Amino acid sequence: MTQLLKKIKGNTYYLKGPVNIGVYVYEGNSCVVVDTGIDDDAGRKLLKAVDAMGLEISAIINTHSHADHFGGNGIIVKRTGAEVMTTKIEAAIIANPYLEPFYLFSAHPLKTLQNKFLMGKESRVDRYIETGEYELGSVKINIIDLKGHSPGQIGVATPDGVLFTADAYFSSKIIKKYRLPYFTNINDTIQTLKMLKEMEYEYYLPCHGKCAEDIHDEIKMNLDAIYETIDFIHKKLVKPMSREEIVASICKEYGIKLSINQYYLTHSCVSAFLSYMTDEGMLKALTENYQLKWVVAKG
Ligand SMILES: [Zn+2]
Repeated sequence: MTQLLKKIKGNTYYLKGPVNIGVYVYEGNSCVVVDTGIDDDAGRKLLKAVDAMGLEISAIINTHSHADHFGGNGIIVKRTGAEVMTTKIEAAIIANPYLEPFYLFSAHPLKTLQNKFLMGKESRVDRYIETGEYELGSVKINIIDLKGHSPGQIGVATPDGVLFTADAYFSSKIIKKYRLPYFTNINDTIQTLKMLKEMEYEYYLPCHGKCAEDIHDEIKMNLDAIYETIDFIHKKLVKPMSREEIVASICKEYGIKLSINQYYLTHSCVSAFLSYMTDEGMLKALTENYQLKWVVAKG
């Protein structure tokens, strides 16, 4: 059975799923979709849902380059010829998905990391977009800078007062379950979350979570989760520890079950905390016994 688009307001819809996909109808039967899901199947589901309403996908905006957000691009582009747009830095990975497991592993990655969750299907990108107003036919949408989870992540605000927030924040359910949401730049994430708190859209739709009118509690939970991890690392590092040991102690404390995928995502997120806390003067890096370690910076 074809899953149907849900209306948020006016011409703004979404397709509910493991990754919520935004849809904005802007002229006649043309629509822009915000992300496309993880693979061909997700792309097909979206095509069917859009088709059931007599709409045609003219443009795809990818909020960022994680595999679950652009893996459906290929089949949609093939069937519709839609124009693909994203920011320059995210485009590099969407066009070269090998870079994701490559940066997580920091060299040619293990075969097991080259899976559909960490390496999406390559897609062409037709145009780079930046933050600010963007014309779609006769209407203007707003591209909002939401960097932090990914370096060039964007959100899309429609003229109906709906903001698609990508992975800028996670639902309270996810935060409670994982405690360590995946962010790759802590300073940018904190700024983005604080900015979101001040915004006044009517509706917010995260890719992983529910459509909501008020996201203050969720934002607070995301910020608290970040501060809690900073605090935990700070307390642990009264004696020097390697990144490997810090990852292990966080996993133990938070009850994170490690698969190889999960290890590399956790490692990446912990690295983001280490660089943030070092930049902020809370920690310093040193070498000891042929290992790189971090310790609390005094004075
Ligand atoms: Zn993501």
